[in-house]
Amino acid sequence: MKTGKCRCGNRIFFNSHTCVACEAMLGRCSECQDLASFTLNHKEYRCDNCGVTVQPCQNRDHGICNSVVKGERICSWCQFTTSIPDLSNPENTLRWSNLETAKRRLLLQLSDLGLPPFIENLQQTHPLSFQFLNDTVDADGKPQKTITGHSDGVITINLAEADSVHRERTRVNLGEPQRTLIGHMRHEVGHYIDWAWAMQVDPEGYHRLFGDPDSVDYSEAMQRHYDNGAPANWADEHVSAYATMHPWEDFAETVNAYLDIMAIATTANDQGRAAFDLSPRADREQLINDVLDIAIEVNEYNYDLGLLPLLPERFPQPVLEKLAYVHSLRRD
Ligand SMILES: [Zn+2]
Ligand SMILES: [Zn+2]
Ligand SMILES: [Zn+2]
Ligand SMILES: [Zn+2]
Repeated sequence: MKTGKCRCGNRIFFNSHTCVACEAMLGRCSECQDLASFTLNHKEYRCDNCGVTVQPCQNRDHGICNSVVKGERICSWCQFTTSIPDLSNPENTLRWSNLETAKRRLLLQLSDLGLPPFIENLQQTHPLSFQFLNDTVDADGKPQKTITGHSDGVITINLAEADSVHRERTRVNLGEPQRTLIGHMRHEVGHYIDWAWAMQVDPEGYHRLFGDPDSVDYSEAMQRHYDNGAPANWADEHVSAYATMHPWEDFAETVNAYLDIMAIATTANDQGRAAFDLSPRADREQLINDVLDIAIEVNEYNYDLGLLPLLPERFPQPVLEKLAYVHSLRRD
């Protein structure tokens, strides 16, 4: 993720709220789009970067958001959320905050890369929104589970996913190498990109690489996957074991991996470690292989600290082609 600079010269990170050196208010300015420091001047804030008078997004009060906006109550990133949990429970506020941080990271990345919904007028024709909900109880007192998933532009995340103990237990039960909030967001937005864009712009390429989703009954595929697991040779053509379940899941898992790769590439550029061409016209395979070289190095740091590897060392050719398909969906 790109970083910024405080007026005192200190670094501003993606989720910084206050400068640790000079105590200036920090955040993302809606006018210059950069991470900046802000100077208080007669109850108003001025962006030290672009000089525009702005005010904090109202969700800063809850520690949820560090955006600073002009003429709006809440920022454009927060406006993507349509349902939030009951904030009378302080635990919910903390979990909501973790979800919003992951969501903002996701949306900024989609916007930087030129992926849906930040293409043409896609947010009008195929709006994307998020709801962060707990399990509920229906009128008869029966517990109703909130299922994490995507449906017609609405991404629902069960608030329990923001609880690290729950997430780790589920991760081990389902045999997943990684289960993170940003990973959930990247996977679910993959379903959104599938629904809102991919099938409209290049259905032939989609069918050739991922298969025809309409030819595989989803419920049956899911049952088969949970009964029998993935085929032993899943890594020959898929980015994860889960991706073997259905073309929709294959596409979503590939989007997830593509966004992981591009996030690492963006950070490497920002840290001065690389000078990757990240534009839609970049040589896709070269870029992916260069990023994997960084991943191999970071995997070693992770092993040093007893953490899991970041990405596989190499992707097989069929997976590279699927990643290239996702890359081709981007627009300037
Ligand atoms: Zn500072
Ligand atoms: Zn600004
Ligand atoms: Zn906000
Ligand atoms: Zn999915």
